[in-house]
Amino acid sequence: MSDAIIDLHAHSQASDGSDTPAEVIGQAHAAGLHTIALTDHDTVSGWSGARAAARHLGVGFIPGIELSTQILDETTGYEPHSIHLLGYLVDPEDADLVHEMVTIRSHRDNRLQLMVEKLAEDYPIDWLEVRAVIPEGATPGRPHIAEVLIAKGIVADTTEAFANILAGDGPYHVPHYAPRLQRGIEIIRRAGGVPVLAHPLSRGGNPATDVGGDLNHAIARYRRWVDCGLMGVEIGHRENDPALTPQLATVARELDLIVTGSSDYHGSKKPNVLGEHSTSATHLQRIMDAGVGSEPLRSSHR
Ligand code: AMP
Ligand code: ZN
Ligand code: FE
Ligand code: FE
Repeated sequence: MSDAIIDLHAHSQASDGSDTPAEVIGQAHAAGLHTIALTDHDTVSGWSGARAAARHLGVGFIPGIELSTQILDETTGYEPHSIHLLGYLVDPEDADLVHEMVTIRSHRDNRLQLMVEKLAEDYPIDWLEVRAVIPEGATPGRPHIAEVLIAKGIVADTTEAFANILAGDGPYHVPHYAPRLQRGIEIIRRAGGVPVLAHPLSRGGNPATDVGGDLNHAIARYRRWVDCGLMGVEIGHRENDPALTPQLATVARELDLIVTGSSDYHGSKKPNVLGEHSTSATHLQRIMDAGVGSEPLRSSHR
């Protein structure tokens, strides 16, 4: 069990991954993973397909979500910063969670249309083409625009699309509604789930979740979210700046946080490989002990 690969962050066609939920589990099984969590953006619609496949293959399965949230940074005039919050073992029928998921998805849909309208001024692309590649019921995201840009030969891959045309600070970007981080944490806790801050040290990313500089300052920043109910941080993640992860590990130890490592697999939509980062069995157990909103499926491997 000590070398078991436990990957707690993966996306399917229920949001912006390329594999069906069952295919994600199939890939996890093929890669020899002990346990996989499905964490689509702002939806739980992939859970049933994933759970059935996991049961069939004997792969451990943790139902999860990656909730879009934001921080309004008081140090810079309340500038909004997008923050992704993983929630494990939430109750999928919790009224507040369902309301929030529905609201975010509908704003994401409008926002993607607005982005395509801006893009259409400079590129041969229209909304019907983009809508056609979004699977029925999936959470719409920029990778769906990237798919059309790739099909038209405008960019080579999703990474290139995000490096310029779809960049968050680029001319075509439109933000979408998301609840404040504190509210997201509260929603996940009240839904019986375990909130874990996703990739807090994304490069070029987020001053709000930064841990550079003074350690006590960093601890104080994270303590505020822990006081709201935050239970963990995703330290193993390819987008986390390796120069800062030791400091975040120290913050996590000081605050007794759950620590995870995960791939953020998106199938062919991102280079991330299943199992490229892993979570320890001890920390998986802490998640399973704390999450009471839905049932995990235990691996048939020990
Ligand atoms: P959105 O949710 O629409 O703002 O789009 C952001 C999503 O695109 C994130 O979930 C990323 O995982 C995904 N994505 C895929 N490829 C990239 C990339 N190369 N750079 C940044 N985000 C990417
Ligand atoms: Zn994504
Ligand atoms: Fe994310
Ligand atoms: Fe993700």
